[in-house]
Amino acid sequence: MAVRRDGRREEDEDQEHREEEHRGGPRHVDGQVAKVEIHAPQTPSPGRVLHPMTTPYAELHCHSNFSFLDGASPVEDLVAQATEVGLSGLAITDHGGLYGVVRFATEAEAAGIRPILGVEIELLDPAMPDPAGVVIPARRRRRSGRAGARIAGQGWGAGSPDLEMPVEGLPARPRPSRTRLPGHRAVVKEDLRGIGERQSGPHLVLLARDASGYRSLCRLISHANLAGTKRVPRFDQALLARHTEGLIALSGCGEGEIARRLRVGDREGAAGVARTYASLFGSGDGVAAAGFYLELSHHLQPDDDWLVAETARLAAELGLPVVVTNDAHYARPEDRELQDVLTGIFHGRTLETLGDLRRPDGESYLKSPARSRPPARSTSGSSSTASRASRSRSARHRSAISRSCAGPAHAGGTTP
Ligand SMILES: [Zn+2]
Ligand SMILES: [Zn+2]
Repeated sequence: MAVRRDGRREEDEDQEHREEEHRGGPRHVDGQVAKVEIHAPQTPSPGRVLHPMTTPYAELHCHSNFSFLDGASPVEDLVAQATEVGLSGLAITDHGGLYGVVRFATEAEAAGIRPILGVEIELLDPAMPDPAGVVIPARRRRRSGRAGARIAGQGWGAGSPDLEMPVEGLPARPRPSRTRLPGHRAVVKEDLRGIGERQSGPHLVLLARDASGYRSLCRLISHANLAGTKRVPRFDQALLARHTEGLIALSGCGEGEIARRLRVGDREGAAGVARTYASLFGSGDGVAAAGFYLELSHHLQPDDDWLVAETARLAAELGLPVVVTNDAHYARPEDRELQDVLTGIFHGRTLETLGDLRRPDGESYLKSPARSRPPARSTSGSSSTASRASRSRSARHRSAISRSCAGPAHAGGTTP
């Protein structure tokens, strides 16, 4: 570790020397100088996200091992891989927290990569009315235990509030007038908020544009954690609306609200959500200044062609910008095995019995700009019967991969 740190420091000093040499001189397009350009402390103008000359590609949706049991690589590995494949910027968007951002920013700055701080949140409520339960399926009604013992039209306490009627030979049972002691606190399920995996809320990615954005992230997450329980922050639309200063929002992975609505054919709803977020985060002046982007991700899953095409079409209709991400969950392709082990730990299964809970593709690594380019065939999306069938298969799989960022996902490169 010490050796690596020393090495980095030398590289850093080296870059600073080179920067001084070139300051005021002609801009070199050579890779080393390009890195210095990014590393140089400069105040980005509002809305300036990427440097057009020196930042050809930045991954904007990436999980570290601080996305507990849903990210396999430490930030150091992610930065090393980003340097290796030639990314000029990298965002860390862990689930519901900023636990890794200090380590990440330090590491990235030392490596000459522009760090972007962000988070991926899971919202409790949809951005648009959802009467059909498309975005958050309705909770199942609690089964009423001894329902058979109740008398129709005479619910608990009907007629005689303190005495349950005798039924089927069972003796009458007195009911206490007060069932809870003073000061009683309802038990809250800490892991799932009492809701099933299938009812988990839509995802949304937030990135800090500047220092005020980082402050907004900190406040948003602090409020959500104070309102929630251990490990389960409560993010809702009202809270989000109060903390948008300096933030950029991406529509999220396949579990984002727009993707969930598109998959079931609710195009109107998806468009409404996009408009809502665009007005909430601001449309800015030009693509780089926009506050809301639709995310295109492709993990070679059966329905990804369709979803990417449909999302891009929606963006074109609404005049909203899109951004391509890969929703990376590990640094290198070979780290996929570790990701599987973590999934096994999360579900309490062995690798042999993990089955469908395993992420079906090996595409969630940090890709090079060239590999992130969308495949040409991704424009051929249509709602044929075959693609609907594959979508429903994929949906089944997706729900199995609980909490994790949508089994399928993405391919990259900033686009139109
Ligand atoms: Zn994600
Ligand atoms: Zn996600």
